[in-house]
Amino acid sequence: MFNFTQIRGGIHPDAYKDLSAMQPIGSLALPSRLYLPLRQHAGAEALPLVRAGERVLKGQLIAMAPSEVSAPVHAPTSGRIVAVGPIAIPHQSGLQGNGIVLEADGEDRWTDLDVLDDPFAEDPLKLADLVAQAGVVGLGGAIFPAAVKLKQGARHEIKTVLINGSECEPYLTCDDRIMRERAADIVEGARLIQHILRAYNVIIAIEDNKPEALAAMTAAAAPFGAVEVVAIPALYPMGSAKQLIQTVTGREVPAGGRSTDVGVLVHNAGTTYAIQQALRHGRPLISRIVTVSGGCIKAPQNLDVLIGTPSQMLVDACGGFTRTPETLLLGGPMMGIVLPSTDVPVIKGATGLLALSATEVPHKEPSPCIRCANCVDACPMGLVPLEMAARARIDDLDGASEYGLRDCILCGCCSYVCPAHIPLVHYFQYAKGQQDERRASTRKNDLVKAQTEARTRRQEEEAAAREAAKAAKAAAAAAAKAKKAAEKAAAAAPESGSDEVKES
Ligand code: SF4
Ligand code: SF4
Repeated sequence: MFNFTQIRGGIHPDAYKDLSAMQPIGSLALPSRLYLPLRQHAGAEALPLVRAGERVLKGQLIAMAPSEVSAPVHAPTSGRIVAVGPIAIPHQSGLQGNGIVLEADGEDRWTDLDVLDDPFAEDPLKLADLVAQAGVVGLGGAIFPAAVKLKQGARHEIKTVLINGSECEPYLTCDDRIMRERAADIVEGARLIQHILRAYNVIIAIEDNKPEALAAMTAAAAPFGAVEVVAIPALYPMGSAKQLIQTVTGREVPAGGRSTDVGVLVHNAGTTYAIQQALRHGRPLISRIVTVSGGCIKAPQNLDVLIGTPSQMLVDACGGFTRTPETLLLGGPMMGIVLPSTDVPVIKGATGLLALSATEVPHKEPSPCIRCANCVDACPMGLVPLEMAARARIDDLDGASEYGLRDCILCGCCSYVCPAHIPLVHYFQYAKGQQDERRASTRKNDLVKAQTEARTRRQEEEAAAREAAKAAKAAAAAAAKAKKAAEKAAAAAPESGSDEVKES
């Protein structure tokens, strides 16, 4: 029996996992058009490499990453590019930007893929670069480029690779199903991550409400001594890296610190699968598993979906709506993004598409705080949400920061337990957004100030150089004038004078 460390706070929301967990992963017909945002990851927007009218093959690179913290985009099928420019993407997601629209030709023809003979024989940095080139990002919703984390092995001593199979958000079961159905590939992906990071061991942590996934992963890991599969208690937000690390290893990531500070690196189970597909088969990230669920979906299920597929196709594949949803969500109900419609495409970070009824997301009017401290007890980060919210509400961002706003992981546990129905997490989302804007504005001001100072310095130096040149010219002219005068005076002097001198 695995000895785990009890973490502070957390909640047990209704799970609603059975709605979709019992069905195998389904597939979808090839969409006629795919809509591919150029920024579906944390970091800089990808730069398009194709033009309208161009023909592309499945898996072909169509937008490149301009920097390390970014991710390229690949064609999910073969076809013709019909547009490069602004497209509809989930609002409130910070993913605004341009995209590429691809019209499928129905042939689904792959480009040539480079397949390694034995990825375990390759240099770790080369493998990390291949993961970057495959466009793999955190598929648990974090969307951070996976290769950036994989390169941490060169800078830090990573003792343990922790594979996150907790999937603590209600409704979501995409990791549960992928662990049940593709366990051997995930274990190989975990071992490849271990090889890249030169880590001592791998721990695959799965919440104890997924017995089938636990059994499948345990069987797949059995031949490998350095890979251990452990059951951890089902508790929200166990999927958060800091909470998972503490539960499994007993090590606490310091406030403001990173998991590498305690020698651990966390990758989600779905991301681990994508890494294995990239390194074993040379396949870029062009599809993912999405949970389609909620009280308004006729037949909830997980679907293997091409990135860029319009959300409505997923709803149709699950039998359509049984009634008009009160809320459409991209992701889980605790941390997901509200969608305006089913027009938006599936992006790399789309863990779920939820269509929830009014009874599943009841609207309750907020009332004044009764200082019950439920929010304090529920906060997994040990914060005081009521005090933080009181400051965020009046735009006192410094005050909110003093109460630990930076450490808030926006899990929503505080809002969930608040008997006064105060939308605490909304205040924190707002305050963090304001802080980001403030930081961006400070960075911009600093840049403008530095550029202005540099320009002033350059102008002063140029003026000084001009003055010096002018003075040198004047001095040269004066010297020339004096010389000329001296020559003239010498020419005017009597001849005898010189004889007198000679004689004396
Ligand atoms: S849970 Fe709600 S009512 Fe209770 S202290 Fe926190 S903010 Fe106030
Ligand atoms: S949203 Fe922030 S303050 Fe609220 S429980 Fe989560 S970490 Fe704590």
